[in-house]
Amino acid sequence: MGTDPVQAERRTNRRGGDPSALDLHKVAAARLWAAARHPYLASALFASTVVAVPELGGASVDEAWRLYVDPEVVDEWTVAELGSLMVHHTGHLVRDHAGRARTLGVDHARAADWALAADAEINDDLVHPDLRLPGEVVLPATLGCEHGRLAEEYINLGDFHMPDRAHPDEPGCGSGADAQPRPWELAGDAGGGLPPGERELLACQTASRVLDYAKSGRGRVATGWQRWAEERLEPRVDWRRVLAAEIRKGITTVAGRADYSYRRPSRRAGSSPQVVLPALERPVPEVAVLCDTSGSMEDADLAKVLAEVEGLLRGVGVGRSSLRVLAVDAAVHTTRRVTSASLVELVGGGGTDMSVGIEGAARLRPRPSVLVVLTDGMTPWPAEAPKGMEVVIGLIGAEGGTGGGQVWATPAWARVVRVDHAA
Ligand SMILES: [Zn+2]
Repeated sequence: MGTDPVQAERRTNRRGGDPSALDLHKVAAARLWAAARHPYLASALFASTVVAVPELGGASVDEAWRLYVDPEVVDEWTVAELGSLMVHHTGHLVRDHAGRARTLGVDHARAADWALAADAEINDDLVHPDLRLPGEVVLPATLGCEHGRLAEEYINLGDFHMPDRAHPDEPGCGSGADAQPRPWELAGDAGGGLPPGERELLACQTASRVLDYAKSGRGRVATGWQRWAEERLEPRVDWRRVLAAEIRKGITTVAGRADYSYRRPSRRAGSSPQVVLPALERPVPEVAVLCDTSGSMEDADLAKVLAEVEGLLRGVGVGRSSLRVLAVDAAVHTTRRVTSASLVELVGGGGTDMSVGIEGAARLRPRPSVLVVLTDGMTPWPAEAPKGMEVVIGLIGAEGGTGGGQVWATPAWARVVRVDHAA
């Protein structure tokens, strides 16, 4: 490409003019290069406007999808290198690494580590043989991790710190990757910045293109992209319906247990078949609700969800008189029978440990047979299911389980429902 006479001439001409002028032909060629190899990224690639920043020393993106490039560095890079970087940066944008960094509470001190984790998440999916990322390519293995996971996991699992990335002169990947604003970044919609709604739309559109492309068989889509797209497009179901169904299943399981033991053939029934045994009266199971009142939960959110859960429980036959609510953070604070969810005093506000709460619930008399846990998921859980108690976890907030710099997995022995209280 360096020997292409047209290209050589254009470079000479440009050099004779404004040194800060950006080689727009190369930018256009790089976009086409990227879109040809990753067709599902085309809309996203073309939605990013390019802003020239002399002396930047590289390329970065901001949260409004602007791509900043140093014109001199663009001159040095090949079309393939610039195109590869565009694919990489588009990955940061459509995967909302900035928003996720904020959700995780990544501060300035941890931004460099997060950026590396985000790079690792993207780069292991950029398997195209033509890919030519300039400089060192960060992969999960670079961080001592296995591939195919998310940045949230890499930042916790990885044993790494690269101080050179935190250097203030180093553009890194920009605020579009780590939510830390850079001095050269524009504000608002200046320079073609996209409003949040449009970014959201483009991310959704990209996700559906990824799945279409994978289905069409026209080419290979990395599994990481496919998983991302599936999660992004997961249809939003009404959590109330799902939670009610799970609570009902829990109640049925408990009632079924009682039913089964009662139905065991008895010698008495066998010897005198004319004896009619009394019909089994299904007991209304004891239900308790455990509320996570740790600092990470908003009281208003919790009260709203709790009120709705109370309604759900009434709908499945659990009367107010048999409902108990516990407020839990790292200790069990209050237990009381409630006549209304609004009467529950939410106390606490420390760290969370739902193991303590579940133990507390198991000590209640009568012992609850169904336990509904309302939490944001930022808590450790007991390794084993509490004996004889069906547990339904209502995970509040879209990012349940990630936060405070850690990822908490909900236990496999519980029924888990994501509760989107805003919906
Ligand atoms: Zn990056």
